[in-house]
Amino acid sequence: MTLNYNSSSELRIFLEQEKLGMQKRFGQNFLVNPQARQALVKALCAQPNDEIWEVGPGLGAMTSLLLEMKYKVKAFEIDLGFIRVLKKMFLQDENFNLVEGDVMKTWPSHAKEGPAPFLLGNLPYNVAAALLADFIEKGCVFSRMVVTVQKEVAMRMAAPAGHNDYSSFSVLCASVYNVKPFLLIKRESFFPQPNVDSMAVLLEKKTHSNPAEIPRVFYTLVRSLFASRRKTVKNNLTSFLSSRYGKYQAQDLCAAVLKENALNENERAENLELEAFLSLAKSIDNMRVCKQKC
Ligand code: SAM
Repeated sequence: MTLNYNSSSELRIFLEQEKLGMQKRFGQNFLVNPQARQALVKALCAQPNDEIWEVGPGLGAMTSLLLEMKYKVKAFEIDLGFIRVLKKMFLQDENFNLVEGDVMKTWPSHAKEGPAPFLLGNLPYNVAAALLADFIEKGCVFSRMVVTVQKEVAMRMAAPAGHNDYSSFSVLCASVYNVKPFLLIKRESFFPQPNVDSMAVLLEKKTHSNPAEIPRVFYTLVRSLFASRRKTVKNNLTSFLSSRYGKYQAQDLCAAVLKENALNENERAENLELEAFLSLAKSIDNMRVCKQKC
């Protein structure tokens, strides 16, 4: 079975023949721009036999390119109709492995020790940010990821401290990756056409950062410090510490943590660099150890 992935009209006819509906809730938009597809695969910089996780293969537009490059593809797809097509198209290729179901639920049992795989995905809009955050928080760090996301999500991923788009998600991404948006993909490149433009983003694993050394508290702390953007770090940190140690201790603990980190009471999370969040998390982590010992 061969499919012309560059033609919206041929894809439409194929979907009708196969009695496949497009499901909006799964963010289904096919990338019908061949130059963009090539650019995404090229940005992976993978070698034959490297393991690539592909999230949301759809009808296999990217999958076929990955298999041509002799990569070992593990594809995660939720749509039962697309799964049927993917099996017909690729299951005879020994380098193709299909994981059926919701990637949010299926991926953890496939993450194993050993060299980090690569990841490629024209990510469904509704799960993109949650999935990327889940990988990072559970310590699953890829060598390189090439993801296509809504342009505004890409801006949040790559925003530096002090920028309007800087958020807890920016800090999370920066904790383990160098984040580089590299290709604007206009809405016309997709079928059906979405309402917004997309952006391809390269995430390269930081060589000097060891995810295992990031205290667990870092992730909840970062979210809490951005919880009310207008509030100071002091106020958000006090709420965070209250929820853990009770409101009577929270103020003293907060003052001690701010002092240890030489942070001004009026500082806001949106101006703090990654290193400041890591340092705050380490102080709080040490405090927990101290409190348990006492
Ligand atoms: N890769 C194809 C392309 O570029 O033309 C399709 C990309 S489309 C934007 C997103 C794909 O992700 C769809 O195939 C959709 O069914 C799949 N998908 C959506 N939610 C998913 C989930 N939770 N788990 C696995 N796949 C999902």
